[in-house]
Amino acid sequence: MTPAYDEAWYSSRAADGIGRLAAYDPGHDVAGMRERTQWLVELGSNENPYGPSPVARAAVLDALHLMHRYPDPRGARLKAALSNRHGVEPERILLGNGSHELLMQFAQVFAGPGADVVYSQYGFAVFALAAGASGATCRVAAALAPDATMPLGHDVEALLRAITPSTRLVYIANPNNPTGTWLDRDSLARFVDAVPADVILVVDEAYGELADAHNYASALTLTKSRPNLVVTRTFSKAYALAGVRCGYAIAAEGLVAVMERVRESFNVNAFALAACEAALADEAHLAWCRERNAEQRSALTTALRQRGIAVLPSQTNFVLAHFGERTGAIEAALVERGVVLRPMAGYGLPDYSRITIGTADENRRLLAALDEVFP
Ligand SMILES: *Cc1c(COP(=O)(O)O)cnc(C)c1O
Repeated sequence: MTPAYDEAWYSSRAADGIGRLAAYDPGHDVAGMRERTQWLVELGSNENPYGPSPVARAAVLDALHLMHRYPDPRGARLKAALSNRHGVEPERILLGNGSHELLMQFAQVFAGPGADVVYSQYGFAVFALAAGASGATCRVAAALAPDATMPLGHDVEALLRAITPSTRLVYIANPNNPTGTWLDRDSLARFVDAVPADVILVVDEAYGELADAHNYASALTLTKSRPNLVVTRTFSKAYALAGVRCGYAIAAEGLVAVMERVRESFNVNAFALAACEAALADEAHLAWCRERNAEQRSALTTALRQRGIAVLPSQTNFVLAHFGERTGAIEAALVERGVVLRPMAGYGLPDYSRITIGTADENRRLLAALDEVFP
């Protein structure tokens, strides 16, 4: 009999782990909607609505004349800039085509069939994809209850309990997407100490630059004394460079050297290298975006709560809002009004929507549309 050559058939031919995997759900077709809608309010993907530093734009234009050449495979200039910024040797920096690429490769390199990978329920979706694609077994630690201080946030004790002798890799995002919640400085330090020293711990700080709570601390300083600790960052969020695709990891030199073995030689393109180097130098623009975001985050949180909508505490550029049973209907009605949020059913949170913090104007439009559909 001839096979159907459908997805199921190819899936049966795929490598260990891939057969059970479902592709990343990107949410609404925003690119398509842009072509049909005049003034779309894009609050679905946690992008920075203010755009990148003008210096970063200029750097991309400047890089155009080298379009026919391969980019620097070492990313030396960007690494030098990052080395300066974070006070770490360039040998401890790994560049990725977005941090997404690096998150996938950590599992490819350090997990694989027979290994366990631990992460939290409602943790970042890429952790499950990365672990699954490597053929590893996923061990998902239950999140905190909805009525906890950090509702749906990471439960440190549950994460530690999920670690077995087969565990090779642990992922946490701090602050976390899609909840927006964070581990405070002491909980994070205790967690880093408690993870066995031969288990690689990845702390994803995609929103690190946007966190300003007095009790938030980056894990970067801990990487010096913890050879099993990796911190990832991205240029996609606070730096407003999601379109150029660049992220990085900071870890022990030996760990970076092993990761280099699977890195595609030219994974970060010439425009990304130029834009990110320039963006790093414009600290004023970053600070300005951080302030606007904090101000709008607080205003939007208050406005939603005044409407009786529960909103989780957030240290990011988005909030997770509880719309209850009408979530799907509300999201659809908002889309009709040109406002795009991120549906959360794929995360097992069908009664919630993730809302990126927009500009003051965008948030006004969101609230106006909400008042029409959620009286
Ligand atoms: C957006 C995001 C990323 C980063 O993505 P890039 O691939 O660097 O654009 C990583 N982790 C989390 C938790 C995120 O929300």
